[in-house]
Amino acid sequence: MSPVPNTVCGRFAPSPSGRMHLGNLWSCLLAWLSARSAGGRMVLRLEDLDVDRCRPEYCDQVMRDLEWLGLDWDNEPVYQSRRGHIYEEFFHQLEQQGLIYPCYCTRAERLAASAPHRSDGAAVYDGRCRRLTQQEQQTLAATRRPAWRVAVPAEEFAFDDLCQGRCRQQLDTQCGDFILRRSDGVYAYQLAVVVDDALMGVTQVVRGSDLLDSTPRQLWLCETLGFARPEHAHVPLLLAPDGRRLAKRDRDLELGQLQQVCTAPELVGRLAHLAGLIPEYAPVTPAQLVPMFSWDKVPKGDLVAPTASDF
Ligand code: GLU
Ligand code: ZN
Repeated sequence: MSPVPNTVCGRFAPSPSGRMHLGNLWSCLLAWLSARSAGGRMVLRLEDLDVDRCRPEYCDQVMRDLEWLGLDWDNEPVYQSRRGHIYEEFFHQLEQQGLIYPCYCTRAERLAASAPHRSDGAAVYDGRCRRLTQQEQQTLAATRRPAWRVAVPAEEFAFDDLCQGRCRQQLDTQCGDFILRRSDGVYAYQLAVVVDDALMGVTQVVRGSDLLDSTPRQLWLCETLGFARPEHAHVPLLLAPDGRRLAKRDRDLELGQLQQVCTAPELVGRLAHLAGLIPEYAPVTPAQLVPMFSWDKVPKGDLVAPTASDF
């Protein structure tokens, strides 16, 4: 009998803007376990679109850090900075669908033109440039280079998250028309991530719940471009003991610092215990955790991260 073909494909999608952080490692470990425990593949994409913040040496470091932890991937890594021509193609497809329009607002105007702020502090654009006449567009184009937005429909978009359950968002009022191409020509993360996940064959997106708000627009874009939807698991965030989100400024939780105080199995053991995969803390490798993984065990609410002194 031939084996049942396995179609699960997970992904790592780190932004190489610095050293990996405990929060990134947490998401990467869960993404890897979810795919590998289903017998699936894992791919790596370096999200280095932001040339001001990303550096080639950080890309190499990210790969060394994943390897150090015991997380592997299939295929060659994909670099977003080399794929502008691909994003362009899909941007044109949306343009042909009549969904793209230029936005001449400056940053200050964009903020002024935004509806009440969402819970995460981001603003919802009110769509004012969607209503510009051709004449107005031409006048503005003489002095400014526009950003390019996609017009979202006035519809609610819903999906089932493996970790967060049923999630929904009203696209026009809770998301708003969003930028797909910046005025300097760089394609936005929101477009790149959808195109790349689809072209790389990703079927399962596991990432921090800080990105939950982006998921309805990404799934809508995915369907609008004619791609199949991947499934999602938005994992709880790791918080500092005082309840703040962990940030890059928590340098003591950067992998370089953690490596000074613990081994990879010790670090993985801490995270596995936090994830409910092992009842007591013990050093363990990712491979040893594969048979123990289940989304049912992973807590849904945000968690307090171990601190360097726990190691
Ligand atoms: N590159 C993003 C980050 O490191 C993740 C994007 C994603 O998982 O979709 O925060
Ligand atoms: Zn505008």
